[in-house]
Formats: sequence, C-alpha cells, structure tokens
Amino acid sequence: MAQYHGPVCRFCRRENQKLFLKGERCLTDRCSFERRAYAPGQHGQKRSKLSEFGQQLREKQKVRRVYGLTEKSMRIQFDRAATKRGVTSDIFFRNLEQRLDNVVYRMGFARSRSEARQLVRHNHIIVNGSRVNMPGANVDVGDLVSVKENSRKLGMFPLAADLFSKRAPTPWVEVDHKSFSGKVVSLPTRDDIHLNVKERMIVELYNK
Ligand code: SF4
Repeated sequence: MAQYHGPVCRFCRRENQKLFLKGERCLTDRCSFERRAYAPGQHGQKRSKLSEFGQQLREKQKVRRVYGLTEKSMRIQFDRAATKRGVTSDIFFRNLEQRLDNVVYRMGFARSRSEARQLVRHNHIIVNGSRVNMPGANVDVGDLVSVKENSRKLGMFPLAADLFSKRAPTPWVEVDHKSFSGKVVSLPTRDDIHLNVKERMIVELYNK
C-alpha cells in the first residue's frame, strides 16, 4: 500500500490517544483530539468493546501511524527484529527509532516525522558527509546527521528547534542547532520512547 498523505488527526481520534503527528498544533487547543475525543465517522461516539484481535490491531496501528509506515514496512521491521537475539519488541522499537526520518525528527530538525521524511526525500539531510535520501536508512551509534548547507535557510528550522525545546528530551542524541548537526550517542531503549502502547499485543498479533 502506498504512503498515506490524507488528514492525520483522525488517527488520534481512532486510537483514542494523542499521537502527536502534526507538530506545534498538537500542543495547542486546536488539537482535534482535545476538541472531539471520539472516533471519526458516523458511529464514532459509540465505542464498542473490542475483541482481543481488535485490541491487538489497534496497538499495532498506533505504532504504524506514529512512525508513518506502510503495513509492509511494519511487517518487514518486525520480521527483522524477530530474527535477532533479545527481546523482539525492544529490538523492533529500537529499529524504528533508528530510522533516519525518526532521527531527524528526534534531533529537532523537523516538527513531525512526516516533515522529517520529506526533508530526507528532498535531499536536505547529510549522514557522515554523504547525502542520504532514504527515510528508512538505519542510523547507528556514532553517526553524524546534519542539514545540507544550502538548505539551512529554510524557515521551518527555527520553528522545529523551538518545538524541540518543548518536547521530552531524547537522551540518545546530541544536537547543536547552531551548526545544524547532531550525533547518535547511544542506542535508544524502550524507556526513551514515550509511546503509550502495549507492545506485547503487537508481538502476539504478528506471531499469529
Ligand atoms: Fe493528534 Fe496532533 Fe491532530 Fe491533536 S493535533 S489530533 S495530537 S495529530
């Protein structure tokens, strides 16, 4: 399935949780979830009890929406995590966090992951001195991520830096917004990812 480009606030309303998909708007009273905290659609205000499968599906969809992934990429990420030694859900989340678009967002060069993905796709991001335009590229400990020199005048960077200062800190990256660069200093742990999701249910769903 292709990347989704439609309205995203409906996802927060569907998942009954703020997923912070729209940058500064999420922190204001213009947030749709704050105004209409019920699922979108004609029957949205009638919340029925979910089956076990339904709950697992909703947990998986939350993660998919937050990272802006297609179902196919989610599956690939999970299968990769499942083949590694260790706790599958921890490895799964770590891999998602190490995606280049997410790292650009975590470093405060973009206001949302979708904006970060666009920056990467449009060749504004440099990793270890080389241009990388694949949002899903893996960024490892020690890698240097920066904004291309010609792109630094884009008006969105000061807004993104301002929003970055209001968000929960990301201890696994070091950022210098003056030089438009940052470094991954350690691997992210599940505790570093402030996402209210029951990962056990995602594992159960994918292991069916
Ligand atoms: Fe979700 Fe942000 Fe839209 Fe609020 S403004 S509903 S948090 S995407």
